[in-house]
Amino acid sequence: MAGHISMLTATDARSHIHLVVGSNPLAAARCAQSLSAGASPVLLAPETAELHYALQKRVDDGDVKWIKEAFQDSHLFSLGREDVGHVVDAVYVTSGSRDQSSAHISNLCKRNRIPVNVVDAPHLCSFTLLSTHTDGPLQIGVTTNGRGCKLASRIRREIAASLPQNLGDACLRLGDVRRKIQEEDHLLHMALADGDDVDDSIGQSASFNKLVTEADIDAAKNRRMRWLGQVCEYWPLKRLTAINDDDVATILKSYEIAGSAESVGKSTLAGNSIGRGRIILAGSGPGHPDLLTQATHKAIQFADLILADKLVPAGVLDLIPRRTPVQIARKFPGNADAAQNELQEMAIAGVRGGKTVLRLKQGDPYVYGRGGEEVEYFRNHGLGDRVIVLPGVTSALSAPLFASIPPTQRDVADQILICTGTGKKGKPPAPPEYVASQTVVFLMALHRISGLVEELTTFLSTETMVVKEEQLQDTVDAKVIGAEPRRILWPKNTPCAVIERASCPDQRVIRTTLDKVVEAIEQEGSRPPGLLVVGRACDFLNKPEKGRSWSVEEGFRGLDISDALDLGAA
Ligand code: SAH
Repeated sequence: MAGHISMLTATDARSHIHLVVGSNPLAAARCAQSLSAGASPVLLAPETAELHYALQKRVDDGDVKWIKEAFQDSHLFSLGREDVGHVVDAVYVTSGSRDQSSAHISNLCKRNRIPVNVVDAPHLCSFTLLSTHTDGPLQIGVTTNGRGCKLASRIRREIAASLPQNLGDACLRLGDVRRKIQEEDHLLHMALADGDDVDDSIGQSASFNKLVTEADIDAAKNRRMRWLGQVCEYWPLKRLTAINDDDVATILKSYEIAGSAESVGKSTLAGNSIGRGRIILAGSGPGHPDLLTQATHKAIQFADLILADKLVPAGVLDLIPRRTPVQIARKFPGNADAAQNELQEMAIAGVRGGKTVLRLKQGDPYVYGRGGEEVEYFRNHGLGDRVIVLPGVTSALSAPLFASIPPTQRDVADQILICTGTGKKGKPPAPPEYVASQTVVFLMALHRISGLVEELTTFLSTETMVVKEEQLQDTVDAKVIGAEPRRILWPKNTPCAVIERASCPDQRVIRTTLDKVVEAIEQEGSRPPGLLVVGRACDFLNKPEKGRSWSVEEGFRGLDISDALDLGAA
């Protein structure tokens, strides 16, 4: 059982007064911990007490003040700092729970909201100490929440040993970079706020306000901060510890764009501002964020502006850094084209403004994602060389996989056909003919499932009419003999599966046959987005239960590969 967990916090204890009750080696250790955090320990032990030698030394050195008295309640309220009314900041009782006074001190402290720690008596503590590793400003603390301090200390040692040397220095250096960026940004904002009376000392030209706008500064600021985020997130720790002044200078400089102090007045903004502007058209996979490619993940971290399609799943959107502006397509029935145009226009404006714009699409950008149209559009606007297209895991192939359907199962199917159920302007596209060894995946089809199934399994009245017309014009299709269309129909008992929200926590798979699928969806309801898979491969790994028209499987069994590996190791 997991039991409770604690809230871990870091306390700034400088100037705090810690009361350490006792005189044993533990009291010495508590005084040492208190001192290392910049606090002032006050030792409370009667004159007759025999101080541990380390403690005696600290008292002799003047680091620890020894009040030669036994504990009295009033000590809690008189030995503390003046600015908090002399209440002590924390109390360490080192004599353990068997000592009668421990419970008394603990109660008194708890009642007065004074943090208290009693050695080996978790029920008397309002806080416990972590097993800590300290390297400069970097501190790592471990607790097992009462399951053993030896274990915690071993874990802490292992963690510390796995870290590269000098990580503390790297924290210092990166902290400096962060501060520098913030200072520069602050200067720029001040300058901008000053209007025409800009401070000459930061070297602006008189035309400063004409050249640099608030938006430019924000862009620059975001870019640099994002760079720092990138470094912290992606650079191997070893590389981080090797970072030097030159690296920092180079990187700050390379990201210093139109808005930064030194470059103000340079021609970048006045002239062509496109600079490093580009568009990344990337697929985000079917739903689960672990199905993003590394390339798309990097693009998400790096982009200055993200324009996402409506279907891009929440788990993926959650990966977007907080400061990155995101626009989600306002696609709703009747607005698809307008929404698409809106996003494309925003993308163009972004790129021209020097931004890295990420067009985030669901699945794979070129599989019914209008990706080709977008690239064409950007080309038509002279931005062809600014476009990068990144693939994504398409739902057309991953949804069958997550439903245990191998679409090219040997001896069952040797081809996959990916179709849309919705044609241009809402008209149904020509239905695919039956091929026994084919697995057909229909996207965007479930909203008109009954029409689709009808097309697959029966001849339509319109077909005969078309044939007749063609006959009249003497352009008889090779497949047509007389008035009988020879489109081969799908047998009604062909296995099929409806897979919805593949790879999402609420994934659902309905397994059935073509003649039952419409009824199944009517009864079970729909949960978009979903797709239909048709063909004998559907039941290769999922033999239908006798006497049941369909089966429903709820939930996604997860992609937590680390869990799987843990299980394997156990
Ligand atoms: N580019 C996307 C497809 C866009 S068309 C891709 O490669 O996956 C949108 C259609 O994709 C939806 O109507 C649905 O049929 C299908 N789809 C998208 N995500 C899905 C998912 N997680 N589960 C099942 N079908 C999905």
